[in-house]
Amino acid sequence: MSRPAKAVINLDALQHNYQLAKSLANRERTNGKVLAVVKADAYGHGAVACAKALSGQADGFAVACIEEALELRSTGIQQPILLLEGFFEAIELNEISRHKLDIVVQNPEQLTMLEQSPQPEPVRVWLKMDSGMHRAGLLPQDFRAAWMRLDALPWVSDIVMMTHLACADESDNGYTRHQLEVFEQHTLGLPGERSIANSAGLVNYHQARAEWNRPGLLLYGASPFETVHPIEQQLQPVMELHSAIISIKNIPAGSPVGYGSAWTSQRATRQGVVAIGYADGYPRHAQNGTPILVKGKRVPVIGRVSMDMLTVDLTDVPQARPGDSVVLWGKDLPAAEVARYASTIPYQLFCNLNRVPVEYAQSSIAVDV
Ligand SMILES: *Cc1c(COP(=O)(O)O)cnc(C)c1O
Repeated sequence: MSRPAKAVINLDALQHNYQLAKSLANRERTNGKVLAVVKADAYGHGAVACAKALSGQADGFAVACIEEALELRSTGIQQPILLLEGFFEAIELNEISRHKLDIVVQNPEQLTMLEQSPQPEPVRVWLKMDSGMHRAGLLPQDFRAAWMRLDALPWVSDIVMMTHLACADESDNGYTRHQLEVFEQHTLGLPGERSIANSAGLVNYHQARAEWNRPGLLLYGASPFETVHPIEQQLQPVMELHSAIISIKNIPAGSPVGYGSAWTSQRATRQGVVAIGYADGYPRHAQNGTPILVKGKRVPVIGRVSMDMLTVDLTDVPQARPGDSVVLWGKDLPAAEVARYASTIPYQLFCNLNRVPVEYAQSSIAVDV
């Protein structure tokens, strides 16, 4: 038997979540469009498989860099693909225009490079305003002049006006309202489509639902919110991380478990070992008590997570046996909940996935990708 750790990716769930994002995008308007954000290998879910599964539905895709975009183009994805940070060097522009990639322009250097690099094929530009997050984007007072300069370039076909929200995961947040006002004010009268919302913005702020929306995490069926949120009821987790119990033994009360003896049994304990660890992307900082599912029941992680294994308390699941499969996160155990126990976010749990084989399932049929 090979090592039992694996991630199963449910592509039906991905399609369901995309439709949910679409319906949110269309609450305020008709024809609200949704870019499926598949950067970082679709948050660890496999960008090619996810983009293919969405290719019949998606209005477009978004990635972090040209390498990620070209991987999708090479598998036949025809939709618009947006480079969320734009280009890093002018030399990328030829391939960008040849492969019909959309680019973000988010700093004055990119604007100048684009002006100095005439292209044979027109490029759509997403001009990004820093409306208050103070990460990427042009300052509001510089936005209009930049828009005019882009508009003057024959090789720029359209300009989408874009911004990104810092606190959209908090509902009714004053700073988000401030950012929305800044964006509104400094785009007033400029023609063209707009794009504001990530997952949290799309769910929480109707004012952020614009012509184009950019959810990522939501598509993978995880909640972007710190605390429990009603949207979770409508999401279907796409990734299920599995492994199995590889050994069980009884240890007396007072036995320390694992590296650093960081946990000690308070009672006679039926201790189980699970074949998953931080080298697979399971968070090392998962604290004692982090739930995992054994035979559908939650049992607590005990002791420190090691590289290839972790230990659990099986005392309350006496029917558990070596070889039983376990779920680390998935349908009945949201990644967002596990993340809270590890002082992190589901984004990082997914992106850290490593070493484990990934299997794809669609309509109960395994698919080759
Ligand atoms: C990653 C990213 C998104 C998607 O964010 P989620 O929180 O996963 O929905 C949207 N917009 C930009 C600019 C991003 O970098």
